[in-house]
Amino acid sequence: MSPLSPHSGREAPCEVHFNTGARQHRADRIIPVFLPFLGCPCHCVYCAQDKQTGEDASENVRDILEKACAATSEMPPCRAGENRELAFYGGTFTALPSVDRTSCLDFLSRLRREGRITRARCSTRPDALAPKVLKELLQNGVDLVELGIQSFDDDALALSRRGYSGRDAEEGCRKVHEAGLSLGVQLLPGMPGSTPEVFLADVRKALSLSPSCLRFYPCLVPEGTVLARWYREGRYVPWTIEETVKTLGEALRLAWQADVSVIRLSVAPEPAFDAALLAGPRHPALGALIQAEALLLSAEDAVRRLGHAPVRLTLPRFCQGFMYGDKGTLKERWQALGLGPERIVFDRNTRSAMLS
Ligand code: SF4
Repeated sequence: MSPLSPHSGREAPCEVHFNTGARQHRADRIIPVFLPFLGCPCHCVYCAQDKQTGEDASENVRDILEKACAATSEMPPCRAGENRELAFYGGTFTALPSVDRTSCLDFLSRLRREGRITRARCSTRPDALAPKVLKELLQNGVDLVELGIQSFDDDALALSRRGYSGRDAEEGCRKVHEAGLSLGVQLLPGMPGSTPEVFLADVRKALSLSPSCLRFYPCLVPEGTVLARWYREGRYVPWTIEETVKTLGEALRLAWQADVSVIRLSVAPEPAFDAALLAGPRHPALGALIQAEALLLSAEDAVRRLGHAPVRLTLPRFCQGFMYGDKGTLKERWQALGLGPERIVFDRNTRSAMLS
């Protein structure tokens, strides 16, 4: 007989399943082509893309494509079932001069024809989505457009001088879908004007717009940006690591619950970028700390739904490496949940968690 939930009086479930973030839609291999600042209408207050990508921001599209051609010239066609994705990162792809965009799309089409890639994506701003350009992307083999939304909050967008409103950002997401392209949404937790509450509202809004993936880039303070000046003047205070882990842990839990993959939880390590950082939530294992928090929050929610003391939790094997956080700091919280190590098993054949 099933036990009764003490709070609702309804029958409590015998098992609760929850997602632990198996990454969907990830290409086996990404071929990145970085276009730092190219096509951008301005330098945003927090952006240091040249340092972030390690690429020379003075290079033009022709030089960048020449290098990409050389790097892919020996690449064999994809094997059956293999995924390889060309990704135009950085800059504002859809606002590139038409001749440059055409060169990029010609390169993409050639790799596709030769069977050396199976997918392609580009990134851009939500206010640079002319229908004609979106059609061009679709016709030339782009599958997914990532929008650097950063926030849907009007105040945060205005403070960061993004030049569009939350409504425009939403509209941008719709335009990508209407053009028949998949949508990726990039958010910037901790940007000027963003609080944990604002960011979590951003995540809920983004999830309601049916994205294929999300990226979270906790806001950092690189030297040489307007944000660096604001930081020195005391006008901007970055989030702490603790605040970032707690908030992004909850955001990741929401994304897992909605079955949407989060393909970045922090800015990728890059020596030139790290050397230029003044402040902000930077930690070598930030992604793992956020995953650990999200897993614990998901388990807490599952225990509440189970309605009785948990007997056993089965987790995918990959969770074993991060579940207890930095130096085991989360062990006590797992124990308090009634889930000591003796009640947890790892299974390499499962892709989600099961609590009984
Ligand atoms: S944040 Fe985006 S739009 Fe702004 S400068 Fe950087 S790449 Fe360009």
